[in-house]
Amino acid sequence: MTTIVLLSNDATLVDQLQVAFQRQAPDLTVVKADHPAAAQAQVAACWFPPPGSLAALPNLQLVHSVAAGVDHLSNDPGCPDLPVCRVVDPAHRQGMTEYVRWAVLHFHRGFDQVTAQQGSATWQRPLQRPAADYTVGVMGLGSLGAAIAQDLASAGYNVRGWARSAKALPGVHCLHGAERLPAFLQGVDLLVNLLPLTPSTRGILGADTFGQLVPGAVVVNCGRGQHVQLNDLRHALDSGQLRGAVLDVFEREPLAADDPLWQQPGLIITPHMASAASHDCIASQVADNARRLARGETLNNPVDKTLGY
Ligand code: NDP
Repeated sequence: MTTIVLLSNDATLVDQLQVAFQRQAPDLTVVKADHPAAAQAQVAACWFPPPGSLAALPNLQLVHSVAAGVDHLSNDPGCPDLPVCRVVDPAHRQGMTEYVRWAVLHFHRGFDQVTAQQGSATWQRPLQRPAADYTVGVMGLGSLGAAIAQDLASAGYNVRGWARSAKALPGVHCLHGAERLPAFLQGVDLLVNLLPLTPSTRGILGADTFGQLVPGAVVVNCGRGQHVQLNDLRHALDSGQLRGAVLDVFEREPLAADDPLWQQPGLIITPHMASAASHDCIASQVADNARRLARGETLNNPVDKTLGY
């Protein structure tokens, strides 16, 4: 009998997931960390697992992220060397697509300018450019980035995408590899980050990157907080090198109420709301992999631990 233990620093999430598992996988034993059966767990379903929690499970065979990203697993530095899987929810793409569409329209059509003007009763039409003349760059062309890039291309934008390996997406000019990053960035009006957080991508949204975009460009970060070098972002916004930025993710969430970022002109802060897999989807995918593990079958959505995503 397979046992799944829920490991997270978020007690509310654990409660919600346990209810979803009861709906999706009544055949499996799914327990919280303080349950006596937890010590027997073969599968750990994790979101920021508490330090030491994974190493304390002697029968553990699979570490499962309950999200698309797996960077949060490093919250437990004792994470054993076992297979890691993640959740890939098609509905996730829809949510992320809506969020990025909003950000692109907000800046492309100048809604940022007109909302700022309203306080001074200023009637001034912002410069309007056809979508085809507005270049959006999407960093990361995986499950989410590829869908976003194609959605924007079908909306008429001039879209570029950048990934680690070569890609072919209809309507999207795809580049890959670190050496093609400058070519990708040059001429971009709005940059969307959908990279995973790995040693190669940490801090990628910094002065070097901003300096290669069109002057007055916009940066939208939907990846992870640690992708952004915040001092560089503040300077770029203050100097006008960047016209605006949207940050959905932060190194520490929730963002502290006294964090100076809240007061930063040109910055829109959203509370990690771009998209989330539903609890039922998470439960169903983790349960499916737990059953596959028990039957010795190939697991879905495995993470390449060498690459870190
Ligand atoms: P995937 O793993 O499916 O895709 C990652 C993409 O990034 C791939 O195209 C990969 O290239 C590319 N990539 C990775 N490393 C590099 C690198 N060094 N240089 C260039 N390209 C690189 O991830 P998802 O699309 O599912 O998710 C992306 C991230 O979005 C998640 O890791 C998470 O951090 C974030 N996220 C944020 C949410 C939010 O609400 N804000 C919600 C969900 C996810 P290749 O294809 O060649 O391997």
